[in-house]
Amino acid sequence: MRLGVEAAVVEGVLLPGDVEVADGRVAAVGLAGPGSGVAVPGFVDLQVNGFGGVDFASADAADYRRAGQALLETGVTAFQPTLITAPEAELTAALAEVPSDPIGPRLLGVHLEGPFLAGSHLGAHQAAGRRDPDQELLERLLAAGPIRYVTLAPELPGALDLIDALHARGIVVSLGHTGATAHEAELAFERGVGTVTHLFNAMRPFHHRDPGIVGAALAREDVIVQIILDGHHLHPDVALLAWRAAGGRLALVTDAIAAAGVGDGRSRLSRLDVDVRDGVVRGPAGELAGSVLTMLQAVRNLHELGVPLVDAVAAATSVPARAARVPDVGVLREGGRADVVVLDDRLEIRTVLVSGEEPVAA
Ligand code: ZN
Repeated sequence: MRLGVEAAVVEGVLLPGDVEVADGRVAAVGLAGPGSGVAVPGFVDLQVNGFGGVDFASADAADYRRAGQALLETGVTAFQPTLITAPEAELTAALAEVPSDPIGPRLLGVHLEGPFLAGSHLGAHQAAGRRDPDQELLERLLAAGPIRYVTLAPELPGALDLIDALHARGIVVSLGHTGATAHEAELAFERGVGTVTHLFNAMRPFHHRDPGIVGAALAREDVIVQIILDGHHLHPDVALLAWRAAGGRLALVTDAIAAAGVGDGRSRLSRLDVDVRDGVVRGPAGELAGSVLTMLQAVRNLHELGVPLVDAVAAATSVPARAARVPDVGVLREGGRADVVVLDDRLEIRTVLVSGEEPVAA
């Protein structure tokens, strides 16, 4: 099957020509012939609390398929359903519901955001479920479902040992909801942690004499920083600053909640009642509580800041895939998996393929 495109983002480079897909793989690129639009790798979202009316904290298999379908419509072909801090019984119940059957986009595994977070930087997370690092609790959570990625605060007592335990099991650690100083963050980076969850939000603020985790992450060359680029979580200059410091290692995440793809009104984020107004999600205390951002819109927003489209696409594809250490995802290349999004000239989605197929609603 030919995609009928004018060009494609192939291994991070805009290559003129059409793309041929066969047997779930990209068979050829750079083919001569008429076409329009551009083929890019399917988007990879590392932080999705819910989507299309579904909150993953209370979702069953049918809900996952519904959310999966809604995510596909926004170009996401691989994602991590994200569970935020909650009491153990609620987390284990939610983990048990994570389906192993196909739901449309690839379900990479769960992003557990909490409960080992700093009480001082919980944001919309509920204090009732917060815990200091606890190996036995971690073991019970890991036994309950397919956790592949954990956000934690590195300055907490026992956090570095917990990082080692997670790495030993092949689980990716990201730092977030933290009051870590630059030094405390460095200790975790030296331990092999390679990424930071929603940089700037819910963490010690950057100060020129006390740069904190933000300064430490931006100053290094080997740390991937994730940002929520919805126009509300960060001032545009701050997003641009992050891009200038960390272009090529900046990953877009949506932090989307159930209301994403639904519209304004009342919604839920785990145990929290939230209010969505003019595209901004707030909890009862007025705190930002996730977003209704789509990955497609995040790409457009980064591009609108002046970042070349190829780089904005990388921030939604290969860079998050690298942060989550998933091979063969987030890159379009000859012989690679045909997880592809075709965008038209206005950056609207024309086609979404997972393994070369247009997934149908189950
Ligand atoms: Zn968060």
